[in-house]
Amino acid sequence: MNVVETVAEMEAERGRLEGRVGLVPTMGALHEGHLSLVRAARAECDHVVVSVFVNPTQFGPKEDFAAYPRDLDRDLRLLEAEGVDVVFAPPPEEVYPPGFDEWVEVSGPLTERLEGEFRPGHLRGVTTVVARLFRIVRPQRAYFGEKDAQQLRVVRRMAEEQRLPVEVIGLPTVREPDGLAMSSRNAYLSPEERQAALVLPRALALARRMVEAEGVRDAAAVRRAVEELLRGEPRARIDYVSVSDSETLEELTEIDSASGGLLLLAVRIGGTRLIDNAMLTPRSR
Ligand code: AMP
Repeated sequence: MNVVETVAEMEAERGRLEGRVGLVPTMGALHEGHLSLVRAARAECDHVVVSVFVNPTQFGPKEDFAAYPRDLDRDLRLLEAEGVDVVFAPPPEEVYPPGFDEWVEVSGPLTERLEGEFRPGHLRGVTTVVARLFRIVRPQRAYFGEKDAQQLRVVRRMAEEQRLPVEVIGLPTVREPDGLAMSSRNAYLSPEERQAALVLPRALALARRMVEAEGVRDAAAVRRAVEELLRGEPRARIDYVSVSDSETLEELTEIDSASGGLLLLAVRIGGTRLIDNAMLTPRSR
């Protein structure tokens, strides 16, 4: 496994790779969620490149960029064991040289709501860094988690708009045995907060039960029930609860029996902001 830090070295490594290249972009502090993406890339591509880069431009000024967990040695051991070919772990100034001004942004409804509303600039930071990675690594396929549902859709749109010849692949959320979605940020949770965070998977389960077992189609009724459950957890503060069209991410009034709906949650537990989502699929009659 080759570990490179500069854009020039990464481009040289890329030049030596023949066949299909799969890219898995990460911010490190790797867990089984990340590794599931790496394994899919390994299975489907001739070569796997993983980037480990805590991207400063996707953090707001009051967010956790400085505190974000970093452990490159551990990450490299995990990636080596997965048979990764190249790890690209650049310092910030490699990705953003002085005077950098090549922002890549998706505009419109896909980026205005949800994370776009609560984390101004976040999605622009994501699309900018991912576009830069796509241009440097030139992967045929790139792997992202459904855990970050809006990010996945925005990256897909960005690749289309920028005419980047890459297939953007979304894979299911990997969860802890008790249902909490794996996230590098779970490391911030105290034992009490870790317990309180279970209100997120419980909220997803409640909504699925309403739509899938009880036949509820009224999106507002689902949102109300989910909000009520979340408010019952004293450590939880809601950023948003949304039942959206799973492609456009526009808010739904009615959950269509053919296309279903996507429930998206952003909830702060103490100082830790967690997101999660689930497809709500009405059972066919
Ligand atoms: P991050 O390091 O948090 O930027 O995540 C890197 C990639 O891993 C993104 O595509 C995430 O959506 C994905 N990811 C993060 N958590 C999970 C999870 N629990 N299951 C599957 N994919 C995940």
